[in-house]
Amino acid sequence: MSKILVTGGAGYIGSNLVDELLKNGRHIIVVDNLSTGKIENIKHNFSNPNFRFIRGTILDDKLMNKLVKNVDIVYHLAAAVGVKNIIDSPLDGIITNVQGTEILLKLAFKYKKRILIASTSEIYGKSNRLPFKEEADRILGATSVHRWSYSTSKAIDEHLAMAYAERGLKVSIVRYFNSYGPRIDEKGYGSVVAQFIRQALRGEPITVHGNGKQTRCFTYISDTIKGTVLSISKKAAIGKIFNIGSNHEITILGLARLIKKLANSKSKIIFVPYGKYYGDGFEDTRRRVPSITKAGRILGFRARVPLEEGLRKTIAWCKENY
Ligand code: UDP
Repeated sequence: MSKILVTGGAGYIGSNLVDELLKNGRHIIVVDNLSTGKIENIKHNFSNPNFRFIRGTILDDKLMNKLVKNVDIVYHLAAAVGVKNIIDSPLDGIITNVQGTEILLKLAFKYKKRILIASTSEIYGKSNRLPFKEEADRILGATSVHRWSYSTSKAIDEHLAMAYAERGLKVSIVRYFNSYGPRIDEKGYGSVVAQFIRQALRGEPITVHGNGKQTRCFTYISDTIKGTVLSISKKAAIGKIFNIGSNHEITILGLARLIKKLANSKSKIIFVPYGKYYGDGFEDTRRRVPSITKAGRILGFRARVPLEEGLRKTIAWCKENY
């Protein structure tokens, strides 16, 4: 039976991935430093003999060496995530995302293991050439704008992965597009969906940034996980990068209205200047839509869960857990 290491396996996406992998009878080791990950996300697996949790950091070279050596496959999801989180602590974000991934890639190469690197749609920055194709140019702002350090750190990860691929490493990269679903963090690390649902459930104002005309494509967690697993199980995915996301585009104001309706909420929708939340000089991505052609062609991937259905399930989970 193959052994799998999931870094960041106590996080929102990681823990949902772990549950899926355990269903298939795999032996899973999770390493997570619980910075944004949570014990509650994984504790239901503690009695499963196929599951092991290690609290540790991916920056611990020695620990990673021991772990990578003893598994067959690595899903590397551990990262500093979320635009707000990165803006609040840019240095930690860069170190975790660059050094951490460097360690994992180096070890996967040394021990000839299959590895998947989780990346982000933030890679495309503020490009307006929609839909974003994996091979398209990236457009970023100045280095004095902390937001772009997230995109840049993940791009370094991708470059490293591609460089190792050239030397024979079996690596695939997934770029997630605004994933949401059960276990989405209440504090809203990189998630407007979590913020809006929490606000709607508490009857607090729903805070739309700017004019709310910026758009995203929200992807339900089961689709995010399906794309992730396909990217490692398909041989043709080796050495390639995939957008994993829905291509249903919605404005943030549209999302606020939809969540308000589905949560049966009396909350007011209010407009908040970007600067009030992110600080001065913040730049947003105006529209974000993935091209899903490549993932469809090579992985047979397509996001299936409609936004309303996914939001209903997420709201139900949040009602129980927030
Ligand atoms: N956003 C918002 N209200 C909030 C949180 C976020 O209007 O309370 C906006 C944010 O400014 C951005 C979009 O929602 O335009 C998506 O933000 P998120 O942090 O979820 O992810 P991003 O796509 O920016 O990485």
